[in-house]
Amino acid sequence: MAIKQQPKPPRSRVIGNILLLVSGLFLLVNLFLPGLFGSRPPQVPYSLFIHQVQEGEVSRVYVAQDQIRYQLKPQAEQPEQVLSTTPIFDLELPKLLESQGVEFAAAPPPRNSWFTSLLGWVIPPLIFVGVWQFFLNRGSGGGQGVLSIGKSKAKVYVEGESEKVTFADVAGVDEAKTELVEIVDFLKNPKRFTQIGARIPRGVLLVGPPGTGKTLLAKAVAGEAGVPFFSISGSEFVELFVGVGSSRVRDLFEQAKKQAPCIVFIDELDAIGKSRASNGFYGGNDEREQTLNQLLTEMDGFGGGDQTVIVLAATNRPETLDPALLRPGRFDRQVLVDRPDLSGRTEILDIHAKGVKLGPDVDLKAIATRTPGFAGADLANLVNEAALLAARNGREQVAQEDFAEAIERIVAGLEKKSRVLNEKEKKIVAYHEVGHALVGALMPGSNRVEKISIIPRGMAALGYTLQLPTEDRFLLSETELRGQIATMLGGRSAEEIIFNSITTGASNDLQRATDLAERMVTTYGMSKVLGPLAYQQSQQPMFLGNEAPNPRRLVSPQTAEAIDQEVKGIVEQAHQQALDILNHNRELLETIASKLLETEVIEGETLHTLLKQVQPAGEQLASV
Ligand code: ADP
Ligand code: MG
Ligand code: ZN
Repeated sequence: MAIKQQPKPPRSRVIGNILLLVSGLFLLVNLFLPGLFGSRPPQVPYSLFIHQVQEGEVSRVYVAQDQIRYQLKPQAEQPEQVLSTTPIFDLELPKLLESQGVEFAAAPPPRNSWFTSLLGWVIPPLIFVGVWQFFLNRGSGGGQGVLSIGKSKAKVYVEGESEKVTFADVAGVDEAKTELVEIVDFLKNPKRFTQIGARIPRGVLLVGPPGTGKTLLAKAVAGEAGVPFFSISGSEFVELFVGVGSSRVRDLFEQAKKQAPCIVFIDELDAIGKSRASNGFYGGNDEREQTLNQLLTEMDGFGGGDQTVIVLAATNRPETLDPALLRPGRFDRQVLVDRPDLSGRTEILDIHAKGVKLGPDVDLKAIATRTPGFAGADLANLVNEAALLAARNGREQVAQEDFAEAIERIVAGLEKKSRVLNEKEKKIVAYHEVGHALVGALMPGSNRVEKISIIPRGMAALGYTLQLPTEDRFLLSETELRGQIATMLGGRSAEEIIFNSITTGASNDLQRATDLAERMVTTYGMSKVLGPLAYQQSQQPMFLGNEAPNPRRLVSPQTAEAIDQEVKGIVEQAHQQALDILNHNRELLETIASKLLETEVIEGETLHTLLKQVQPAGEQLASV
């Protein structure tokens, strides 16, 4: 269904704006009416009101649905005072009032009711008109009227702006930078390349997980080259009216060609560039398809002569893109923007720490070591969190401990002091966490246990064991993965041993353990029975640390059963391993748990000395 917009003369827009203004005014007046006409008495807490009634200080009470107004008995020098409070549902109130001999009644209906009800009739249509007008204005890119509804909303950043971004602002993505330096050359000096007959690439696709600096890099390219930068986000194309997306693309490129050499940056390309085949089941999405086709046409249509327009695009889901986009002559260059490694993280922290005052004890390298898997955006956020914490703690400079606390916040969530556990629960949580820590201390592949705490934090954790890595890992062996699963099951195993029963607290551990075991079997080919086959459809790109489970490939029922059995086998074996270790170290488990119950948190040296005493359960290790 196509909705055509009738072109409107500009006068109707003026009228629309006036209507908008008027309706806004009416709304304001209505909101403040009670304040203007019926001057609101001071508001007090309900508890104070009850107290005053009990003390016999109240003479008269009007009870309305959402407000109680009452009058105090005249005091020595004070005149009669009128107060109000917000009622709570209290069936005892009439009895109490009666017993105190207070005069009470339901409140009289509000005055000026004809006026209010008139407003009730007038305002909704006005608001409707206002909202409509607002959307029309928005759709038209502002200022050009309804006629230009299809005009591009691209933001243009031109050279020389105060917040110019350069490559110096981006770190940890050296390979990507190297490739983009070349693009900057093309933009600065296209002749040098075209003279020889080389064709300048048209499209460069930045691919990488969210927050790794793709948008930032695109801006940096423009900043370095000193050319105009048109930026638009793919999700903005997906709009209400059919046909708007494609005309917007046409318009965007028209503007860009006038300003060549320049950069057109399409953020979140996957929003328009989704493979046309992939949504066949749902009958496709006409609008997106048209937009995509227009984009393809435009990319084929320019590039000749002096028009150096380079299209940069960013996506974190390259596998969903339509193959037509990736053909030579379109986005034929792909630049991987991956999560930074250790030195990259240090550099990124350096960049963002420039803006905050650092104390002398801050060691950015140490912070980088403890944050593998963090993308640039996470690190920027980390620095800011640390600065906020320092300010909250009344410090002048950010200290290392602020960073430590900020990491913990980001990894485990906010502390929830308000969630109070009863003694029994606390005890269970303590043993559970110590169970994780003890198994984790022995297992290969487990990160160093830094802290155990039974102070609730984050979404679900009642207590937590904070394990932070000491180095970046890119490959994990089968033994290490099994070790991780055993560590995840350590909590539940401790509950079983000590309390001989199981609580609901371990469900998240079990979920993660099962997921990991399934990945061992179906993705990493670590099962002897099933062999080195991939049983999962790898739709997700294999970014480091991407843990989302994939759907299984279509397999025969027998294979599915075998997979299930292998997964179960791995988890059960790890469970047994955890039980063995904890049984073997039962005394230590008791000691640390009771200490944890006293102090609520054990960390640092104290924890390391305690955990050094863990003994491997002899026979078990040999059999794994
Ligand atoms: P993406 O587009 O890849 O999702 P952004 O470019 O929007 O990520 O990054 C968001 C913010 O995170 C940036 O504005 C910057 O402050 C910070 N950031 C991300 N990556 C880096 C990096 N490699 N170097 C420095 N800062 C970064
Ligand atoms: Mg982005
Ligand atoms: Zn747990």
